[in-house]
Amino acid sequence: MPRTRQHNVTAAQWSANGTALGAPDLTLPGNQTFASNVFSPAVQRQRLPKHVYKALQRTLAKGEALDTSLADAVAQAMKDWAMEKGATHYTHWFQPLTGSTAEKHDSFYGPAGDGTALAEFSGKELIQGEPDASSFPTGGIRATFEARGYTAWDPTSPAFILENPNGALLCIPTAFTSWTGEALDHKIPLLRSMDALSGAAIRALELLGVTDAERVFTTIGCEQEYFLIDEQYYFERPDLLTTGRTLFGAQPPKGHELDDHYFGSIPERILAYMLEVELELAKLGVPIKTRHNEVAPNQYEVAPIFENSNVGADHQMLTMQIMQNTARRYGLVCLLHEKPFAGVNGSGKHNNWSMGTDTGLNLLEPGDTPHENLQFLFFCTSVIQAVNKHQALLRASVANAGQDHRLGANEAPPAIISIFLGAELQKVYAAIESGKAQSAKPGSFLGLGTPVLPPLPMHGGDRNRTSPFAFTGNKFEFRALGSSMSPALPNTVLNTIAAEAIDEMAEALKKALRGNSLENAVAKVVKESWSANKQVVFDGDGYSEEWHAEAEKRGLANLRTSTDALPWLTERQTVAAFKKYKVLSKRELESREEVFTEQYAVTINIEAETAASIARTMILPAAVRHLNELKESGLEELVAELEPVIKELHFALVKLEDANLKENQPEGAHKWAKYMRDTVIPAMEDVREVADRLEKLIADDRWPLPKYSEMLFIK
Ligand code: ADP
Ligand code: MG
Repeated sequence: MPRTRQHNVTAAQWSANGTALGAPDLTLPGNQTFASNVFSPAVQRQRLPKHVYKALQRTLAKGEALDTSLADAVAQAMKDWAMEKGATHYTHWFQPLTGSTAEKHDSFYGPAGDGTALAEFSGKELIQGEPDASSFPTGGIRATFEARGYTAWDPTSPAFILENPNGALLCIPTAFTSWTGEALDHKIPLLRSMDALSGAAIRALELLGVTDAERVFTTIGCEQEYFLIDEQYYFERPDLLTTGRTLFGAQPPKGHELDDHYFGSIPERILAYMLEVELELAKLGVPIKTRHNEVAPNQYEVAPIFENSNVGADHQMLTMQIMQNTARRYGLVCLLHEKPFAGVNGSGKHNNWSMGTDTGLNLLEPGDTPHENLQFLFFCTSVIQAVNKHQALLRASVANAGQDHRLGANEAPPAIISIFLGAELQKVYAAIESGKAQSAKPGSFLGLGTPVLPPLPMHGGDRNRTSPFAFTGNKFEFRALGSSMSPALPNTVLNTIAAEAIDEMAEALKKALRGNSLENAVAKVVKESWSANKQVVFDGDGYSEEWHAEAEKRGLANLRTSTDALPWLTERQTVAAFKKYKVLSKRELESREEVFTEQYAVTINIEAETAASIARTMILPAAVRHLNELKESGLEELVAELEPVIKELHFALVKLEDANLKENQPEGAHKWAKYMRDTVIPAMEDVREVADRLEKLIADDRWPLPKYSEMLFIK
């Protein structure tokens, strides 16, 4: 075996010796680590004065504003708790528009003046921080000369402690705003959208005769897909290192054709890694529930139990961070990019979403009484209406450069947003539409003669993996999110458009109720909305050519690239809905569109420069050396085979380098993004195509990059 390969193979050796976590007796209370690093309601109850604790709980349960005079007491208790756990510093932990989380650490200690230091942390420091905001993307909301940005404590997402081998850090989830009060982050709009939805759903529930609920929470549970590769390969690949994806690499002889990876048994090293991730996340109160292999080689998935959208979104950010940090302890690197390997299934994030009352009702649960059926139909139809109206916006909410390799390419889910309902539910709607739904007798779904939709059979069997938005028993699953994304924006959109549709349906219901029974009135508005919006419902194969043609006939949006989709963030109907519910102002929407468009262009620019550099300084020299060797051997046929391919590579490379020149790139985010998509990406693909052919012509010991077959199959 050539030296480089040998080297790569030995890199993947791993032994659990010395790093094993061991298996504690989990029936002993002392070994229960769940939420041990969270300033949870249980800890708060123990440590806070009663009236402070109660006020805090009211904020959590009802979304009431917190009396800031209580902040000092909370800060005191939080600091004592954190210091007992070894925390030396605290940080306001927030989510700027970069898509990752940000933290700036402050020490608890301040000099006391007599040569000693005192630990201090006041309510003011808990409530508000003032990081220098000038280096965060704002899309023109705040010019750098007025760089003031504020972080504001979010008491509805509990503070937590991040441990590292040399210390601990108290993290306080916060929102991030400009000094003029505009949202510079992902949390503020998400919180606003949750309020909007709660208001609309409570109004609708009253019409439906449910009067005891005070608040409706949206809930999310995200299934996260990811790849793990040996860290040695990662460091040997400048493309992975700087862009998160491989820009070169010929297809391996074996891919996932054999379907032998999905749900297969998990290799020991990977399992050990997963267990440690779960342990770390458990300490942080993230309720991880499932793990399994995914479709592609070296691809895996992890999913939590659902939580309210705000906490769920924070926990999702933590999950990604812990997954990446922990991997290094196992000599692995966790790849969260949407498409790390061309020709191999990419990674997504399935966003399971529902709405539930503070009294414990899941509004998307079909239920087993006629009344629950009515309620379910009302809310389910509202979601269909919302998704149909705002398909393009939903697509825009999941746009980024990595996603362009999945959505719109030959991979699930497609860029066309449609809804999968499943055969049973389709039958229910068909009956309502044809007027066959009569008054209910017990044990039937709206008197359709079919048994009440039982929750179980709807989970099993009736599934569709290609649909971007699927009803899965008692929730919708928005599957178009990218694996590296914060779930905040897609959920903000989902909540806002659902709030709008629920209000519209409730308005119609109010009218229909005049002189009608509740049952007939609901049937009437459901029927009307269904007829107007059923075009978005599709139960077939979302990959197929026929569906693309059919979707076009139906007038559904098919926005293949991010550049096509992002303008929908500022379309008139988007602005109207977001303004009505005070989720994002026009200016805030415009800033997001600009930030994301620019991020798209910058990402591709980095990829293109990396690709050019690898081709010029690694691949080309390797190819030329190999050519010289062939020339020395005097085997002219072999020279004739290789030489033209090297020339082809050079030709394509010069074109790419030319496309990369700053002076050839137009200014302005939109024009720049379009240029990247239409000129730079094709130039990059041309270089790759030749380089991947060369990979199969050049001596293995000369090839400068770990190959797909190594990265994906050595575990
Ligand atoms: P599947 O493979 O059927 O999609 P998984 O168990 O992998 O199922 O994931 C289902 C996800 O849906 C979990 O994260 C779960 O917590 C979440 N989920 C279940 N019920 C709800 C709900 N009411 N609201 C939001 N998410 C939910
Ligand atoms: Mg799923």
